[in-house]
Amino acid sequence: MPPVCVLRVAHTSVGIHPSGHRIVDITRQGTAFKQLPMSLGLRPQVLKMRFVSPDVNGSFLKCSLRAADVLAKVGRHTLAFGSGKLLHRAYIGKALSLIYLPLFVQKNKVFDAVTNRPIANLPRGEDIFAPAIDDSPRWQMAFMATICPQCGWNLDGERDSVALTCKNCDTVWEASEGKFIQVGFGAIPGRDETSIYLPFWRISAGDNGLKINSYADFIRLTNQPKVVQRHWEDQGMAFWIPAFKIRPKVFLRVARQMTVSQKAFEMEKVVPKRNLYPVTLPQTEAAQSMKITLASSGLIKTKIFPLLPRVSFTIEKSTLVYLPFSDTGHEVIQEHMRVGINKNALKFGRGL
Ligand SMILES: [Zn+2]
Repeated sequence: MPPVCVLRVAHTSVGIHPSGHRIVDITRQGTAFKQLPMSLGLRPQVLKMRFVSPDVNGSFLKCSLRAADVLAKVGRHTLAFGSGKLLHRAYIGKALSLIYLPLFVQKNKVFDAVTNRPIANLPRGEDIFAPAIDDSPRWQMAFMATICPQCGWNLDGERDSVALTCKNCDTVWEASEGKFIQVGFGAIPGRDETSIYLPFWRISAGDNGLKINSYADFIRLTNQPKVVQRHWEDQGMAFWIPAFKIRPKVFLRVARQMTVSQKAFEMEKVVPKRNLYPVTLPQTEAAQSMKITLASSGLIKTKIFPLLPRVSFTIEKSTLVYLPFSDTGHEVIQEHMRVGINKNALKFGRGL
């Protein structure tokens, strides 16, 4: 009864085009057995899955597919972004998961153990799966003790969070290659104890191609209806990118609104004690959306789009910032910039 591995890629693909963003969720069979179905179709979105743990019985087949091959397929999948030329494409919030589909073998036939239907014939008397069985699947060694490397306190974080917090010594940690790496962070105190803290990546970056080196440069280039103030010339350019997954349309709008109306906050280095929304988008993914945020902020698209190939940002600093939001029932609203996010969109984003 070998469960067979299937590599799934689920992420947001954003292209610069008037309607250029979509969510892509595809699977690709990861073994060398061409007899087995090449994809799971819509099943990963419809069926409830659970995490594999060492007590799941059966043999697990090796996955021979590389993530890059799956991404190449996503590229082909999203080529047709409406009409016109695609100027730039970014994959944001890639989530690669390995899914095991349960199969069983009976009378020289392979059955799908979810539908109990035969899906392939086996050559008579040959156990073709035996050589492909994985003796040490990778998921068996993916556990890390969630203890603060600095003070030994228990770290907090939800299952889908890529950053864990220590409320004892006020630090934030990101797991990377089996180690915890400290993340620079700040928090803006909320109005009262009902404030909800959403994480954002504040990425300071400059560009030499278009000479965007200050907030004033950005405001001029994107033709914002604001009078450029003198002190903006000295204020470095920073992008405010959501550190959580949310559908692309909302993601782009929030990144644009926060970046355009950015405030020079006084930040505290204290982890808020309650109502922390998990970080589900790593900094490396957020950084890929700077160019798209610039494009989306430009009010004269015919001016900004042709310039995009010349833009190449150099990141100076990234900080994780927890910003306070107030719950108004249907949406949460940022307490200083009045940027609103629908609560259903946040809930939906947890599943992306
Ligand atoms: Zn600590």
